[in-house]
Amino acid sequence: MSLRLGYLLILVLPALAFADQWFKGNTHCHTKLCGHADSTPEVVAQWYHDRGYNFLILSEHNKFIDPKTVKLKGEIRKDFLLVPGEEVTGPTHSTAMNVTRLVPWEYKNKDRTKVMQWQVDETRKAGGVTILNHPNAPILRPAEILPVKDLYMFELYNAHPATKNFGDAHRPSMEELWDALLEKGKIIYGVAADDSHKFAKWDEKHDNPGRGWVMVRSKELTPSALTKAMTLGNFYSTSGVMLSKLIRGKTSIELEVDQKTTAKELESKYLFGRPVKKGEPGTFVEFIGPQGEVVQSSSGSKASCKLKGAYLRGKVIHRVKKKDGSLREYYAWTQPVFGDGR
Ligand SMILES: [Zn+2]
Ligand SMILES: [Zn+2]
Repeated sequence: MSLRLGYLLILVLPALAFADQWFKGNTHCHTKLCGHADSTPEVVAQWYHDRGYNFLILSEHNKFIDPKTVKLKGEIRKDFLLVPGEEVTGPTHSTAMNVTRLVPWEYKNKDRTKVMQWQVDETRKAGGVTILNHPNAPILRPAEILPVKDLYMFELYNAHPATKNFGDAHRPSMEELWDALLEKGKIIYGVAADDSHKFAKWDEKHDNPGRGWVMVRSKELTPSALTKAMTLGNFYSTSGVMLSKLIRGKTSIELEVDQKTTAKELESKYLFGRPVKKGEPGTFVEFIGPQGEVVQSSSGSKASCKLKGAYLRGKVIHRVKKKDGSLREYYAWTQPVFGDGR
């Protein structure tokens, strides 16, 4: 090795070792242990491992699956990690991310704000953080969620087919709920997750895996680094759209869609997208502020927007015309930046 090359490596290698990377993960899935899913923790973990995910939480209902007890087959990738966790149930559900033990769940109270707060507090005592799960099943009002302290994440997109992420006649969409919370000053980030139960039977109507995930920006792939990154909003959520660039600056958001990786994700036979009736096929970027107002929209893969009001968040809509003529939408949602010092 020449002296010059050696010198260069000394300069470059530490930078590579500590550079931020993107890690693909799912924070919500189920196994046979819950009684209504069809596969063992090993089969579930293997599915995510074999499809290139970097991390997974085996978030069983009120059961703690110790990652050490889950044995994968074959050559195990070094960049795959089981983050310990649980889905805590009750009048509201939440993922207890990166806990060291079982979080209790039998808190009998009709006040759902108190239930959520209790789940957050108990999860913290067990060393983890809370993601509020599917807040439109049951329908939670913004006024119930707002007072909950130390709650920094909720499921913006839960891929279970029974979950009404986009609202219906009885409930608002998860984005409307998010805007209502952000508008009132809450720091809360949106998570996309599978909530998968079925790994043996496959159909668009089944709660299969591979439909909603997060891309987390972190220096290292450890449970604590991932959890910290997500708590700070250093991730984006997706139902199929992948980004090659995301700068969540102090006063602006800049993003670029990775069309090649997105196309690859969309080839998946597990991913169906959201059926819609109207719209031109293509890639569109929206930036959204208080009251859910779209402050800027454009077509194409690249966009950036300056923050004006209390917050700004980005959303990519990728609309595809299928062979049968139907239209399907896939999304990526960035986390907000704040302009009011929160
Ligand atoms: Zn649940
Ligand atoms: Zn669940």
